[in-house]
Order: sequence, then structure tokens, then C-alpha cells
Amino acid sequence: MSMLNKKSIENIDVNGKKVLVRCDFNVPLKDGAITDENRLVGALPTIKYLIENGAKVILCSHLGKPKGEAKPELSLAPVAKRLSEMLNKEVVFAADDNVVGKNAKKSVDDMKNSDVVLLQNTRYRKEETKNEENFSKELASLADVFVNDAFGTAHRAHCSTVGVTEFVETSVCGYLIQKELKFLGEAVESPIRPFVAILGGAKVSDKINVINNLLEKVDTLIIGGGMAYTFLKAQGYEIGTSLLEEDKMDYSMEMVKKAEEKGVKLLLPVDHVTGEKFDKETAPVVTEDQNIKEGFMGLDIGPKTAKLYADAVKEAKTVIWNGPMGVFEFENFAKGTIEVAKAMADADATTVIGGGDSAAAVNILGFGDKMTHISTGGGASLEFLEGKELPGIVALNNK
Ligand code: AMP
Repeated sequence: MSMLNKKSIENIDVNGKKVLVRCDFNVPLKDGAITDENRLVGALPTIKYLIENGAKVILCSHLGKPKGEAKPELSLAPVAKRLSEMLNKEVVFAADDNVVGKNAKKSVDDMKNSDVVLLQNTRYRKEETKNEENFSKELASLADVFVNDAFGTAHRAHCSTVGVTEFVETSVCGYLIQKELKFLGEAVESPIRPFVAILGGAKVSDKINVINNLLEKVDTLIIGGGMAYTFLKAQGYEIGTSLLEEDKMDYSMEMVKKAEEKGVKLLLPVDHVTGEKFDKETAPVVTEDQNIKEGFMGLDIGPKTAKLYADAVKEAKTVIWNGPMGVFEFENFAKGTIEVAKAMADADATTVIGGGDSAAAVNILGFGDKMTHISTGGGASLEFLEGKELPGIVALNNK
């Protein structure tokens, strides 16, 4: 895969250079305060390396969806403040509504080696998400070198992820992307076997290409969450009022056949925790087997299934997980997801969490530091698992 051979910050000389770093500072905010700092913490190794090696560090990122307008509630000002505290060093915030404006230019002109400047939210500019040349050129005009360290947006061709690389001489990845490429890349391309993938979440339609691609690679594919019911219904089981994508039943059967042909073990739930309503107060009822009674919906995998899945994880040497096993947001229906997370935490294997809801679940449940790698990009890691090339990575210089 051409994505796995990219230069990183360690392969170039950054001393005295103006280095524009695309970070992922898309943090959740409440009343102007950052409620989860994980993404800031994740960005620190690259920023610190550049500071220590005498670069002039110009940071940029998007935050939320201002849709091309300067929305004050989506300003990166709180990030500049918090980063200053974390780095114990001033982070100059260049508060231009047009991102590359008077403040940005002046702040960059005034920089000494190891100084840090943060630009305003790149999505204040409508050109950003359309990858339009003028804004890419403006961004590039500030810098000698471009570093992409925003895995979460690497699957999008935007000015600050792809366009800018055309107008700077050198484009490399930072530590975060390097780590993502190492763990996701190695897991998918050269896994130590047995290789088990666990897919859950709401819909089959979101994961069609992931299922298809992973069936080419894994030894065992485990399916849970809302998407399991379409598979079960297609095989003739009763699923009550569970989530169903009727138009994906044929596809599910194709995947069952493909698994057989490839000799991949495909595991589906053998029991469920059901409820009468999609509601956290609904009483949990465990089924006897795969079938669900009329008027009930499957909201979590059952205890037999959790054991079956945990056993498969225990035997694995590489495990990738994307998507919860049930409605883990409701306490009564979180157990399946917890059991799978536990099995992964205890496994003697390389364990990779593919971003999004499963990453959140693993962190909330306190298993975060037991995993080999938790991807910082939901959409990007899904596209990676689909076998797609991510434009924000393809655009970087090869080794
Ligand atoms: P995704 O974003 O596709 O990973 O889906 C995550 C969402 O799927 C979570 O919000 C879960 O609550 C939801 N989910 C998981 N299992 C079920 C289920 N059995 N029924 C309805 N929603 C589910």
C-alpha cells in the first residue's frame, strides 16, 4: 500500500524552518470550555518534537462545522489557551476571521525558532472543504514545510490536508499519523494470526465496504450491534422490531457465502438482550436463542454471545474493533460492549480500536490504556479498513 511508506518529521531537517502543522483540534466544547482534551494530548508529541528541534511551529485545525463563516463559538481561542498551559509556553493565537490574515502574517513574521502560533479555525473559510487553490496557497505562503498530524480528517481532501501540499516543498506526517499507519496498517496488511475483526454499530449500510474488505483479510469476523439483525433476518430468524435494513438482506447473505468460500469464521449473535422500546428505562429481557419475540427489539448481544465473542478474542493475536455490540449508552444494554472490551483488554494480542463510538466506549469504560492502539479517526479508520487510500496521507512525500 502506497500509504505505508511516508516520510515523517524525523526524516527531515526542521531547524529554523516555518512548519505548518495540520492538527486535529476538533475538540468538544461546552460554554467555551473544552470537555475532552484527548485530541490535544494526542497532538503534543509532534508539537514538542518540533519545538525541541528549533522549528517555527504554526498550528492549524478545523473545529466543528462553521460552514465557511467566522462563528465565534467555534473559535480556536480556547485551544490556544489550553495548549499554552500544556506546553508551558506561549501559543500565540492569530485571530483572523479569514485565517491567513494580518494577524497570522505578522505573528509568523515575528516568530523565532521554537515559537508556536495557532491559526484560526480553517473551516471559517468556505474554500477549505472544497480544496480550493487560493486558500491552499495562502496557507502554504506561511510555511516552508507542511506536517499532517490530523488522522481524523485524512480521508478528506481539503485545503489544509491536501491542497496545501501542492504549494510547499516538503510534506510529511507527524507522530500521530505515523502511529495510525503503523498499527492500522500492520493489522490490516500483515497481521499476526489469528486475526479477528469485530464489527458493530447501528447499520450494515455504513460498513458494507469494511465487511467486504475485511473478509479478504481476517480469520474470524464477529458481527454485533444493530447491524447483526439484518444478517439474522436474512437467515430466517425472528428479529421482532429490531433494526432492519431490508435492502441489505441479500448483501448480508452474499457476505455469509463469501465468508464460507474464504474459510473465514463469521460469528453472529446466538442470543440477545431485548427490550420493548428504544429507551433506557425499558426492562431488559434475555432471549433463549437467536430468535426475538414479537414486540421486542434486540438492544445488546446476550450472555452466551458475549462469551462466544470473548473466547474468539482470547485466541486471537490481532484484533480490530469498530462499533459497539449494543446500545451501550443505556446501562442495561452496555454489557455486551463491556465484555468485548474486557476480552480485548485481557488478550495477549495486538488490539486496535477503530475510532468513533468504540473508542469512546473503551475510554469511558476505563480500558483505554490496555489497548495497543486507539485510532483517533472514526471515519478515517473506517475508510482505512475499507482498503481505501486516504488523500491526506497519499499527498505526503514518500520515503
Ligand atoms: P456506529 O456509529 O455505526 O458505530 O453506531 C453506533 C451506535 O449504534 C450507537 O449509538 C449504539 O447505540 C447503536 N446501536 C448499537 N447496537 C444497537 C442496536 N441493537 N439497536 C439500535 N442501535 C444500536
